[in-house]
Amino acid sequence: MTPTVLRSVAELRAHVADWKAAGATVGVVPTMGALHDGHLSLARRARAACERVIVTIFVNPRQFNNPADLEKYPRTEEQDAALLAQVGVDAIFAPPPEEVYPRGFATTVSVTGVSEPLEGAHRPGHFDGVATVVAKLFGMTRADRAFFGEKDWQQLMVVQRLVADLNIPIAIEGCPTVREPDGLAMSSRNIRLSAEGRARAPALCRAMQAAAAAMRGGLPVPEALAQARSEVLAAGFDTVDYLELRTADLLLPMERLEGEGRLLAAATLDGVRLIDNIPV
Ligand code: AMP
Repeated sequence: MTPTVLRSVAELRAHVADWKAAGATVGVVPTMGALHDGHLSLARRARAACERVIVTIFVNPRQFNNPADLEKYPRTEEQDAALLAQVGVDAIFAPPPEEVYPRGFATTVSVTGVSEPLEGAHRPGHFDGVATVVAKLFGMTRADRAFFGEKDWQQLMVVQRLVADLNIPIAIEGCPTVREPDGLAMSSRNIRLSAEGRARAPALCRAMQAAAAAMRGGLPVPEALAQARSEVLAAGFDTVDYLELRTADLLLPMERLEGEGRLLAAATLDGVRLIDNIPV
């Protein structure tokens, strides 16, 4: 089945109204396109859980703090549509920027606390852009459930905070990170790595796995983190923005391994910024 491609909010609303009138549950998978198996795993989860599924493809200018990153972001809509046809989604909502941010647009949704450390500290304005577009997509689609990847763990926590705080009637489902056979977390940005960079990239998740094992084995957290950071740099990464153990839900600093922790990292290789996270 070929998904219907919708460009305007009006068309989207008309489709959803028909589905809801027929009593269907609606799932939404927000993406920025350049789809890979990680995105498709979310679409499959939505397909299994909901009667109607919308995948949104929108490279949201407001969540890019770096204009060059926005410019270079891969756009592969035709290929994306073919992949989503295989999953059997009902509709693709791929609006132009002016449909999402028309003249006079003046509202920003800002989640404090959980959005502030890590990505929030290194990408000023990023989570305001995410929270604003996600709140809009929820309002536009009126979906019953939304599917997000654990790959962007902090984003998942921000979105959960957003819907709880604004009483948005939607269930948020986190889905496990899909990885390449060598462990590298799938990301639309991976295709920007050189062959050499691609070969070095799995060092990030390997160092994180090793640090998690060392912490579980009793190595003090700061030592395990310092060791992982030097392994990542020794593997050829240019910079490590952060590599930290945090509490899984509130993302508060965690000095000692107690309760549910999350090891989160961002590092740059070949000018490509990679992020990853694992439970500890
Ligand atoms: P993006 O297009 O990068 O904004 O991602 C859209 C959605 O796909 C987000 O909820 C991401 O967390 C999720 N996602 C991206 N990469 C992966 C992955 N490797 N595994 C699982 N989910 C992912």
